[in-house]
Amino acid sequence: MKDAVIGVKQPQLSVVVPVFNEEAGLDALLARVTPVCEATFGKSYEILLVDDGSTDRSWAIITAYADILPQVKGIKLSRNYGHQLALTAGLEHARGDYVFILDADLQDPPELLPTMLSKLRQGYDVAYGQRTARAGETKFKKASASLFYRMLGRLVDVEIPRDTGDFRLMSRRVTLQLNAMPERYRFVRGMVGWIGFNQIAVPYDREARFAGETHYPLRKMIRFAIDAITSFSVVPLRCASLLGIAFGVLGMVALGWVGISWLSGGTVTGWTSLAALILIIGSVQLLVLGVFGEYLGRMYMETKRRPLFIVDQVRAQSALLAQSLPLR
Ligand code: UDP
Ligand code: MG
Repeated sequence: MKDAVIGVKQPQLSVVVPVFNEEAGLDALLARVTPVCEATFGKSYEILLVDDGSTDRSWAIITAYADILPQVKGIKLSRNYGHQLALTAGLEHARGDYVFILDADLQDPPELLPTMLSKLRQGYDVAYGQRTARAGETKFKKASASLFYRMLGRLVDVEIPRDTGDFRLMSRRVTLQLNAMPERYRFVRGMVGWIGFNQIAVPYDREARFAGETHYPLRKMIRFAIDAITSFSVVPLRCASLLGIAFGVLGMVALGWVGISWLSGGTVTGWTSLAALILIIGSVQLLVLGVFGEYLGRMYMETKRRPLFIVDQVRAQSALLAQSLPLR
């Protein structure tokens, strides 16, 4: 409504790119993204570059682009919130009929936009990139990713396609649904799967990073995996009862064995076995407590209802684009 009043049209496409210390790759990114957008949408697109608390020159580069290109809008978060929240911030500002999510490091080829668009025009709501090959990534990263997606597939009822990142084109209604989901621990690709409608994979070869290094070291990968599992499954909580039953049965067997050997005149010797048993049971109990803690901690953080992120600055040429309030 507001747009009609000031006479500025909604862009047809929003490109959302989370940026964290990507100074070396931003020029190449824009050089590849803009022609693709222009070829398909003319001038009717916006590129939202979300600076997730970069400590390098990323924000300076983003503002420079926002000042010369009317389609570019820079959104600077108040600190580093992590990939998924930076993405969320971008999605909340996206106003296009189509929303295209890209990584800043050019690992996802923007040239796939027309292919994905044709899927959406056929009636799909989401066309997600599915990696067929992953260049420039370590064996460990590939193996851990594969293990993670297999485990997730077992634990979660929702369809979360394997070998996908956040690289995808989504319809407006999916974006609106996503923005309406208030959760703090966000595993965006899973949330999109949860939303449903018709979704389709578009295979592609994942290229190596254009510049810089991955911002997902092992520690962050593990946290990401735990976020994904806990936000979509309570199966780990149920494991407590299973472990309880298993150890109960083991205890009964052991007791039976002790009884039989006592009746046949012997006693079971040694405190080593006893000590080992106590340690094992103690460790299982702590493990279960830890799993409970993981869920409880998340519930606690959710109940605070803090904003997911805080926007520090927004930079764009047109007054409309510069509005920082999400247009839901
Ligand atoms: N990213 C971010 N905040 C972070 C970490 C990463 O916004 O705390 C961005 C990063 O700039 C990139 C995307 O998220 O555009 C994916 O990160 P990265 O390429 O490091 O992950 P990988 O591709 O190695 O999984
Ligand atoms: Mg990357």
